[in-house]
Amino acid sequence: MRDDMDCKEVQKLFIPFINDTLEVKYLDAFLQHLEECQDCREEYDIYYTLIMGTRYLETDAAKAGEWVDSAEKLNGAQDYLTTYRLRRLGKIVIGVVICLSCMILFV
Ligand SMILES: [Zn+2]
Repeated sequence: MRDDMDCKEVQKLFIPFINDTLEVKYLDAFLQHLEECQDCREEYDIYYTLIMGTRYLETDAAKAGEWVDSAEKLNGAQDYLTTYRLRRLGKIVIGVVICLSCMILFV
């Protein structure tokens, strides 16, 4: 899988992203593209507002005042990705430390 996506690919992922069903392996390229591509960013804002706006009106969220705007959603995803990466890195570091301890013990 290439790291960079074209606009068509990115736009296909708007709905999964908004629904929180986008696979994490696509998330990085997706967020990066939206950062760099003004067209997709605008398109995303429109999608997001339409979908979330409809849902917001249909549910009681309006009463509770739970509105996350499109930019907050992107920031949240970026945070999620960072946490996800740190966790994975943490696992690698622990693995390396265990290996090194074994080597020291057995040498
Ligand atoms: Zn684009």
